[in-house]
Amino acid sequence: MIITDTHAHIYSEEFAEDRDAMMQRALESGVQRIFVPSIDSSYTEKMYAMEALYPNNVFLMMGLHPTYVKENYEQELQHVETELAKRRFAAVGEIGIDLYWDKSTLELQQIAFRRQIQLAKQYQLPINIHCREAFDEIFEILEAEKSADLWGIFHCFAGNYEQALHAVSLNMKLGIGGVATFKNGKIDQFLGQVDIQDIVLETDAPYLAPVPFRGKRNESSYIVNVVAKLSEIYGLPASEIARITTENSKAVFGI
Ligand SMILES: [Zn+2]
Repeated sequence: MIITDTHAHIYSEEFAEDRDAMMQRALESGVQRIFVPSIDSSYTEKMYAMEALYPNNVFLMMGLHPTYVKENYEQELQHVETELAKRRFAAVGEIGIDLYWDKSTLELQQIAFRRQIQLAKQYQLPINIHCREAFDEIFEILEAEKSADLWGIFHCFAGNYEQALHAVSLNMKLGIGGVATFKNGKIDQFLGQVDIQDIVLETDAPYLAPVPFRGKRNESSYIVNVVAKLSEIYGLPASEIARITTENSKAVFGI
């Protein structure tokens, strides 16, 4: 069984003590494909180091995370552009808008999101969207930018059914992780009505650990708990959930 984790920060400081063991646990659990979102330029070298250690299992994205859009965002966007011009990435991400942590930077976040969408189009890459308390703002930009060459993933999708359909209508797949296993997570109540072709799996490690690890540090191997939950929701064997969502991830990333 091959499982694809479409969003994990494996370079995080949280794994400083046991990074290799964490990767081994992932591989042994069948998580053979891990897609790694970027945050800002301070993590780029660490990402390259992980890719060099696991060239067949680790696939990198490049982008500026919305909560890291600050006064120096022009410089950070320049870094993103330079890296994208240098080599191949799996996606532009994670990018988007986050109004939970800081509303004051909304305008800058909108500029950065839009510019990075345009870079994704230029390089024919999918986008990996971070959306927190910002569905209206994100949809406004996606509607304005929509075209055949704009597609990707709504990472850690936590919206309602209407928002799920809206995202899918904009060529986006829904990144489903630990939240689907939470008792009050809500998405488990309508997920079964969403076509499984529109779903990819993720952990967002080290954040958002699934039940029974909720509140603890998350890691890619825990994705098996998300697979089990989707197996229950869709009434399909775990191996089928893993196979279909891996195929879906290939459709998005082209790898
Ligand atoms: Zn993330």
